[in-house]
Amino acid sequence: MSPPVGRVASNPDFPKSADVVVLGGGMAGVAAAYELARRGSSVVIVEKGTIAGEQSSRNWGWCRQQNRDPRELPLAQLAVRRWENLNAELGEETGFRRTGLIYATTRKADLDTWERWGRIARDFGVDTRMLTSAECSSMLKGNSRQWGGGVYSPTDGRAEPELAVPALARAAQRLGVVLLQNCAARELDVEAGRISGVVTEKGRIRASAVLVAGGAWSGMFLRHHGLRFLQACVKSTSFYTTAAPAVTEGGIAMQDVTMRRRLDGGYTVGLSGLGQLQITPYGLLQAREFWRTFQIRRKGLTFALGRQFFEGPEALTRWKADSISPFERIRTLDPEPDAHLVKRGLDRLVATYPVLAGIRAAQSWGGMVDSTPDAIPVISSVASRPGLFISAGYSGHGFGIGPAGGMLAADLIRGDKPCVDPKPFRYERMIDGTDLGKPGML
Ligand SMILES: Cc1cc2nc3c(=O)[nH]c(=O)nc-3n(C[C@H](O)[C@H](O)[C@H](O)COP(=O)(O)OP(=O)(O)OC[C@H]3O[C@@H](n4cnc5c(N)ncnc54)[C@H](O)[C@@H]3O)c2cc1C
Repeated sequence: MSPPVGRVASNPDFPKSADVVVLGGGMAGVAAAYELARRGSSVVIVEKGTIAGEQSSRNWGWCRQQNRDPRELPLAQLAVRRWENLNAELGEETGFRRTGLIYATTRKADLDTWERWGRIARDFGVDTRMLTSAECSSMLKGNSRQWGGGVYSPTDGRAEPELAVPALARAAQRLGVVLLQNCAARELDVEAGRISGVVTEKGRIRASAVLVAGGAWSGMFLRHHGLRFLQACVKSTSFYTTAAPAVTEGGIAMQDVTMRRRLDGGYTVGLSGLGQLQITPYGLLQAREFWRTFQIRRKGLTFALGRQFFEGPEALTRWKADSISPFERIRTLDPEPDAHLVKRGLDRLVATYPVLAGIRAAQSWGGMVDSTPDAIPVISSVASRPGLFISAGYSGHGFGIGPAGGMLAADLIRGDKPCVDPKPFRYERMIDGTDLGKPGML
């Protein structure tokens, strides 16, 4: 089941050429297309399913700097500033509100981590404040649990995933971007070692630059061209509730459950740290690179062997430009939510906030979170394929930082001055022997 994402109409005509073809109509692709069009580039977005059909409508809607990896903090800061203007700029509702976000815990280890992170973040100018147990009680009115402490980031906020990317896509179209949905990219066209376009299921589009922003499928697409892209997926279950009293206007993360106020008066609820790792061929082949992530996360993981093994983004599949590709077989990656997790989330929520007794899960869904080994994205050119760019591997952060990720991708494609230091996001770190270290804040 998908969340009720807003629909966007495709453009009727199939263009023969553009300056840039963007593969993927999620936040990464649409934000980049919008920025490119604002600066005068002609752009075509090809999306195998529908705009924001995958992760970009299935996320919790947190737009945060809090607990971001220091390497991506400048991007997160820029993104929050960008979010603040988007409603007015697009003339549409993205749901963004700068409400602040709160994390509460009973674990001393969490508090130590946030304290350490806060010292770094304050050097970047991020407003982040540790909360005592008493401050938690006073800020989280009606919350029945006794917290050891917490952290509050007043300049962070939340937006509506079902609205935001469709709104950006429509704005991009108004600037001339051509959007083709149900149109999978099968492979790249390369001439004399340079990118010359894309072969889609509906025909070829010539372009001197292609941006791969295929979310969880990016690795599969790049592998088809002999490019190694380290990426692993974990299934997460989320749901939204019926309308309920306002216990927060922002988001609260509480060890086992997260809640975020929605514009429609309900909450989007997530199960923090709990996910399902599906056993897949590429998952096994990349086990060494993801071992450290696995060790950190394994307590919250369950394991499954199913359809994903044969036809998901981590399957071993081969195809040709003139045959149906895996991207056409799965138009929308729509994993089943785990019913027991929905029940558990709802129970925890009501136990924590008795005033919410009687709320129901209005809709639940599964989403595949794609991660890199160091848990920061790749936003980069690819040195061995002039004209090829990547914006993927957002590691569970790509909705909030997406607007800035789009700016950086556009900078790199156009050769403009990068809005932040692009080095941490370079693709070559995955193939040149760089020690990717431990994953940053997950
Ligand atoms: C449950 C959950 C909770 C999350 N919570 C948050 C949060 O609170 N805050 C936050 O910042 N982030 C969050 N995230 C992460 C965030 O949603 C993602 O990082 C972000 O949406 C990634 O955007 P994307 O454009 O890279 O990928 P996607 O949104 O997945 O888009 C990729 C698109 O590419 C298309 N595609 C793939 N291959 C092809 C092809 N060959 N041809 C054409 N199209 C193709 C796909 O159909 C898809 O629509 C969460 C994710 C999940 C699943």
